[in-house]
Amino acid sequence: MSDRLSASSRIDTGEASHELECLPYGVNHSGEGVCLLVRMGPHRILLDCGLADISSLMKGLAKPARRGRSPLPADFVLVSHAHADHARGLLALHQAFPLLPIYASEVTSKLLPLNWPNQNLQDISQFCQALPLRSPVEVKDGLVVELFPAGHLPGAVAVLFTYTTSQRSYKLLYTGDFFLSNSRLVEGLRLEELRGLELDALIIEGTYGTARHPHRRNQENQLAERVNRAIADSYSVLLPTPALGLGQELLMLLRSHHHFTGRDLDIWVDGTVAVGCDTYLELLSHFPPSVQNFARHQPLFWDERIRPRVRRLQPGQRDRVGRYPCIVLTDSTVDLREYCQPDTGPWLILSPEKTEIKINNNYQFPGIITVENYLLAQHSDGPGTTQLIHNLRPQHVIFVHGSPTYLADLTSLDELQNRYHVHSPEAGVLVEIPIGETFLQPAAPETNYEGELTELDTVVTIALPDAITADPRWRQFADTGLIEARWQGEELVLRGLSQRELLNQSSDRFILSDVECCGTCRHQRGQRCWNPASPLFNFKVTLDGYCPAFERGNEGARD
Ligand SMILES: [Zn+2]
Ligand SMILES: [Zn+2]
Repeated sequence: MSDRLSASSRIDTGEASHELECLPYGVNHSGEGVCLLVRMGPHRILLDCGLADISSLMKGLAKPARRGRSPLPADFVLVSHAHADHARGLLALHQAFPLLPIYASEVTSKLLPLNWPNQNLQDISQFCQALPLRSPVEVKDGLVVELFPAGHLPGAVAVLFTYTTSQRSYKLLYTGDFFLSNSRLVEGLRLEELRGLELDALIIEGTYGTARHPHRRNQENQLAERVNRAIADSYSVLLPTPALGLGQELLMLLRSHHHFTGRDLDIWVDGTVAVGCDTYLELLSHFPPSVQNFARHQPLFWDERIRPRVRRLQPGQRDRVGRYPCIVLTDSTVDLREYCQPDTGPWLILSPEKTEIKINNNYQFPGIITVENYLLAQHSDGPGTTQLIHNLRPQHVIFVHGSPTYLADLTSLDELQNRYHVHSPEAGVLVEIPIGETFLQPAAPETNYEGELTELDTVVTIALPDAITADPRWRQFADTGLIEARWQGEELVLRGLSQRELLNQSSDRFILSDVECCGTCRHQRGQRCWNPASPLFNFKVTLDGYCPAFERGNEGARD
């Protein structure tokens, strides 16, 4: 897909400044990883290095150095999180350029070594420098970096870069992989932390395109039910996962779901998924309070006493665990035939949807095998992605990370095209990010809020997300706590009743006389209290006021 600009160009590029541009080395269209070189003024920042082969970064250097720049491929690297598609090239990069600074969050710096399980951890934990969360750090003259937790994986961050010249500031945010929902071991990205940034450019992932996902609880329940049915049918369940993130989420889900708690069942954890669990345990103080609380009462992962038992699979046990129904979590890279032996029971292999994990269907499995998919999303869905964009309202939106068709679904959305300059570059195609002289924030779109209805006896309760209260119009809407509902065709229209309306209303709208207040009290005349027994005696009162000396009456005293 080529770089595209929206039709309604808001910026006269003739006067625009060209301080920002982005050269992608990898955009993860199909698992090749993310690696983006961003230029902000004189600064060159490498965002992630998920390339398996970093030779394209070297090639750039073979050309004559432009404007006498240093021979490093960038001034520094910023790693969004520890997944392989963002990090696997870092070790090679560090070895090729030992002087190139590499930054990440503290948790990411500790998780990174899992990408190279055969290397000495001591050696590689050194190359990455930890930056604090939510505190701006000036890493270069005039260039400030700030990290915000992004959900998705412990340690994952969205990164805000602010480059300041004598004329103005330029702001760019890179989301890395992000997730707005809370999952079991990591809290979601907090939109409110990022609102009002006046971003010039947003580089955002689009893994799930415009797809809308069921609520997370639904996804979890569906998976738990499928696993439960398989065990009841005497199957063992094999869950291949990446070393970090999904595996530990699955483990927490299986341990605490009512289908499994207290059941006489073994959950075996194998390979680097088990090493990932050990590393999480060392980082417990960085986890959400709910997780730390859980860990105070029982071991977070390894537990031989409380059912279902969570056990580490020892080398050489793979061909033996499936003799009675159990659950196995293992590396997606392992040959699954090692578990599915002829003398074990039948196996259900569950593979996560829309990830790099592909089960080789050409395998000649020796036993009885069923392969199915499930969804337990680790990234934002389409509505979450557009929600983040509309909250940030940048001038430019640059989509990376996702299949080209999914990214095209996103870039062609009218709600994005009409407001922002939308790009979806291929690897090797430079994106210029022209910025107007003054910041013109695109208009906010109208949001649709989704809520839930509950009917209880004679009362209907409508629960809406609290994000609705962030709108400045909310105060007026909710002023009196009273709403008017009326049908408009098939739709129900809600309207807040204002203080003024309550006072001026005619009896056909809202019966004020039902309410105990100064407006219906016999001692109130001419908006003044005439009751010597009231603390409000002789004071001017508002008609919706109230005191303990209230006495009903006072018809027609509303003037
Ligand atoms: Zn990731
Ligand atoms: Zn990723």
